[in-house]
Amino acid sequence: MAGFTFELNEDQKQIRDWLHGFASEVMRPAAAEWDEREETPWPVIQEAAKAGIYSLDFYAQQYFDPTGLGLPMAMEELFWGDAGLALSIVGTGLAAVGVLTNGTEEQIGTWIPQMYGDAHDVKVAAFCSSEPDAGSDVAAMRTRARYDETKDEWVLNGTKTWVTNGGIAQVHVVVAVIDPEAGSKGHASFVIPPGTPGLAQGQKFHKHGIRASHTAEVVLDDVRIPGHCLLGGKERLDERLARTRELATTPDSRVRNAAMATFEASRPVVGAMAVGTARAAYEIALDYAKIRQQFGRPIIDNQGIAFQLADMRTGIDAARLLVWRASWMAASGKPFTSAEGSMAKLYASEAAQRVTAQAIQILGGNGFTREYPVERMHRDAAIYTIFEGTSEIQRLVIARALAGVPIR
Ligand SMILES: Cc1cc2nc3c(=O)[nH]c(=O)nc-3n(C[C@H](O)[C@H](O)[C@H](O)COP(=O)(O)OP(=O)(O)OC[C@H]3O[C@@H](n4cnc5c(N)ncnc54)[C@H](O)[C@@H]3O)c2cc1C
Repeated sequence: MAGFTFELNEDQKQIRDWLHGFASEVMRPAAAEWDEREETPWPVIQEAAKAGIYSLDFYAQQYFDPTGLGLPMAMEELFWGDAGLALSIVGTGLAAVGVLTNGTEEQIGTWIPQMYGDAHDVKVAAFCSSEPDAGSDVAAMRTRARYDETKDEWVLNGTKTWVTNGGIAQVHVVVAVIDPEAGSKGHASFVIPPGTPGLAQGQKFHKHGIRASHTAEVVLDDVRIPGHCLLGGKERLDERLARTRELATTPDSRVRNAAMATFEASRPVVGAMAVGTARAAYEIALDYAKIRQQFGRPIIDNQGIAFQLADMRTGIDAARLLVWRASWMAASGKPFTSAEGSMAKLYASEAAQRVTAQAIQILGGNGFTREYPVERMHRDAAIYTIFEGTSEIQRLVIARALAGVPIR
């Protein structure tokens, strides 16, 4: 079995321990306060920037780890610290990945550094895809981008919703429709430079969980941006649209599925976040069960409690293995023929909901109060089955992959 191991290498262990230190010393003590305040935790983001955790370099290093485990391991530790704070730290990464995957080298070099700012003046970025009438159904998107050839400018109009860092971001990456006939293949991504007139924050959402992370609407009203803000450039877009029109007349589902396979690759990352939250709640429940005495003995001495802990731990380990498998496959260039990315996200997000609910039960009355963090962790865990594709959509994707029908 040479070459096969579940063991992290020495570099990965060092990074994990360093992140764990940040999560336990900086994030955990601040978590309850920012959850109550429901405000962007700028001082925590700044601490992360000073430590080197909030930066493109750090993110890219984990993203391109050849084993595939760098990013899930980092996410697990940060979300173990606190989900709301962690999303405030990693939310910019969504927009950065939007530019990394669609942009030219020049665009990557221009925009990504602006998204992060620096440790003295931190900035955040936002990725705007969802709309009031286009959540799961991305193809129903209505935000339009029209090219004004005379000025070499794009003009964007529409409303985006549920945007992490929406309206407070230095740079917004916006997905808009160019060719409505082509469904999601007629979409393109644009960078909206800082201070562009016409972009405004709509309502800010007050949420059930991950409350330290800012979520808001973004309204685009005749937003004019230079031609070079189209990610990938006009030539590449025109070629892609021409190819899509040709493909529309051929029934080759393998080609259609290629885009979906790329999208799938980001899903294990959400699974890793869920593993972090679940592990945090499980550890607290385990410690509590060993200390809390009822009927003259620790509650863990009751099989009813011990078996719950056994199930919690088994679920977390199973979730992590699915996340690691999908991450390793993505890094090794192996296609997700059975939607393995979706499997990881689906299982881990539902495990996190289950485990955090069980943690509340094990802590009894204390678990139900805000004096103990498991209540917050349970509220936070609810997001993982919703964003980046709901559980229902993951099941749809898995089922379609198994049935061999095209994933739309
Ligand atoms: C806190 C938060 C942060 C977010 N951050 C971002 C962000 O930064 N950028 C961004 O673009 N988006 C973001 N989102 C949006 C998120 O991706 C969407 O909420 C998600 O895709 C679901 O869309 P929806 O809310 O419109 O639900 P809907 O699509 O309306 O779904 C409602 C229900 O119907 C079910 N459903 C829908 N279609 C089907 C079907 N075909 N079969 C079975 N069931 C179905 C869903 O599973 C769900 O249970 C965020 C959302 C939240 C809550």
